[in-house]
Parts: sequence; C-alpha cells; structure tokens
Amino acid sequence: MARREREPLSAQGQRPRAPTVQHDTVDPTENDAVEQLIAAVVEESQPQPATAQSDLRDAGAIVTGGATGIGRAIALELARHGCHIAFNYRDDGDGRIAAAAERTVAELRQLEVTVLCRDCDVRDADDVEAFVDAANERFGSLHILVNNAGIGRDRALWRMEDEEWRDVIDTNLTGAFNMIRAVSPAMRAQQFGKIVNVASIHGMRSEFGLSNYAASKAGMIGLTHSAAIELGPSNINVNAVAPGYIRTTRLTDGVSPEVLDRARERSVLGRLGDPQDVANVVVFLCSERARHITGAVIPVDGGHSL
Ligand code: NDP
Repeated sequence: MARREREPLSAQGQRPRAPTVQHDTVDPTENDAVEQLIAAVVEESQPQPATAQSDLRDAGAIVTGGATGIGRAIALELARHGCHIAFNYRDDGDGRIAAAAERTVAELRQLEVTVLCRDCDVRDADDVEAFVDAANERFGSLHILVNNAGIGRDRALWRMEDEEWRDVIDTNLTGAFNMIRAVSPAMRAQQFGKIVNVASIHGMRSEFGLSNYAASKAGMIGLTHSAAIELGPSNINVNAVAPGYIRTTRLTDGVSPEVLDRARERSVLGRLGDPQDVANVVVFLCSERARHITGAVIPVDGGHSL
C-alpha cells in the first residue's frame, strides 16, 4: 500500500494549515447550511458507542443449566437487556429442579421476553440437537450460547470411581462441545454469534480432590481457544469466564465452611462472589462492546488466582 507523504514542515517548524473558509465573504444562510452539513458528516463518522441494551435487544440466547445459580443469574441479566431466553435443565426425577426451572421461567416472563425451557441433558448429543432446533425455531435465529451447565464430584483421585470421572467430563466438557457443535451451523450461516463458556479458576490451578473437575474445566478452556480459532472467520466470538468461589446453593451446600473461609481469605477483595458478578461479565462478552475479544478467559474471582 502506498504511504501518504506527510506535509513538509514550514521554516517555523509548523505544518501548513488546511485552507479555511473565509466566512466574511459567504452569504450567512449558505454558511449555516455548510456548518450543518459538516456537523452531520462529523457525527456520522464518529464511532457510535454501542450500549449493551441496544445490541442485545431481541437476540435469541441459550443458557444451559439456567434454572439455578449462576445460569439463572445469566439468563435473567440477558433478559433484562431484551434477549429471548432458552434454557435447559436435567430432570433429576424428584421434581426439585423442574420446580426451580418453573420459578425461573416465571421470573423471565416478568421481563416480557420469550422463554423456552426444556428438560435436556447436555451429555446427550441428540437431546442437544433437538433443544437447539426448538430454540432456533422459536426465536427465528440464535445469537448467543452460554455453556453454564456443570457439576462437581470431588474425591481424591485414587478413590475416584469411573462414573464420577465420566459424569463430570461428560457434563462439563462434552456437554459444552455438544452445544457448540449444535449451534455452529446456524451461527456460521448468519455470520454472527457469541459463545461464552463458564469455566473455573480450577481450570487454571487445581486443588486437592478436583482431578475430574479441574480436567473438565481446563478442557473447556482448550475448547474455547479452538472454537475461537475455527469460528472467528464466521464472525463468532468465543470466550470463557473463570469464576472463583461464587455463592450459589451448590457451593454453600456442598463445600465446608472452612473451605469457604479460606477462599474468602485468598480473595484479595476479601469476599466470595455472587452469581450476578459472573452474569455481568457474561453479558458484556455477549455485547458488541466486546466485539474484538475472542479466545479470552476472564477470571471473575476477586483476585483469588493472583
Ligand atoms: P448449579 O448446580 O446451581 O448450576 C448448574 C446447573 O447445571 C444446574 O441447574 C444443573 O441442574 C445443570 N446441569 C447439571 N448437569 C446437567 C446436564 N447434564 N444437562 C443439563 N443441565 C445440567 O451450580 P452453579 O450455579 O454454582 O454452577 C454453574 C456453573 O458455574 C458450573 O459450570 C460450575 O462448574 C461453574 N462454576 C461455579 C462456581 C461456584 O463457586 N459456584 C465456581 C466456578 C465455576 P441439576 O441441578 O439438575 O444438576
């Protein structure tokens, strides 16, 4: 490409100024018209700051595991920005999760968005295809996928059962892969998409008893990088968030108070996170304000991993 020659400096070391309009020789009404034209051109050429509200309104979004905890907070925050929400849960047979899903549906509907809620196991590729097809049909297009569904089955690795290993890898890692593979054709065809994987700080630095969980979340980070490379040319951003200890029922019911106290002390901000802390970052990554971010892993951990 030819480089533009710079104007030579004058003897005084100043660049020559662009010729200016001599206002006193111009009819004042003509002058006003010129000013208005210049103002309009200048305004048009300024980058318009995209607000999260403006670019997310009416987007079709899927949030896996959206009935409870972090997934619920993400679904609600996306809906507050005007997204239509499809979320799934895995029926555990005792109706507990179905009841939680119903409550989340009711909260979402209050935000006046379209809601689709399905019993769909992310480990099952056929189930996932059917869920994604249903969401696509309901919304007319799919713009956003948040892979949030996840489980933990913590145990020292020499005591870990095959099933505990498999369940965690199949849900956290294969589940995210199944979802990304299922939404890719629609997102590639429309040349637009935002995918956010909910990984964990334990995907970067593990602790005792987390071999299955840490491996699944590290795998999710690798999947994020690969998907970003493969889908980037189709204008699809793929990122991950890596939450630290976030106050959800899963955490407060499943982890001892001593571990939670230690986690609070480890965080440089001296606190545990809330689901909303994660939801805010996910919504940012789904917005056009993050359009030049892909393949990134953003810690949401109050500095725990420093
Ligand atoms: P929750 O248990 O509240 O949320 C997980 C959701 O995923 C549940 O609704 C769960 O349903 C659903 N789910 C589990 N397995 C499947 C499946 N096979 N198919 C469909 N849905 C499924 O936990 P959190 O909100 O705490 O966790 C959400 C995500 O955040 C997880 O990926 C977790 O690993 C990650 N994370 C959480 C942290 C924390 O401190 N809370 C820290 C770092 C990461 P069900 O109840 O029926 O299993």
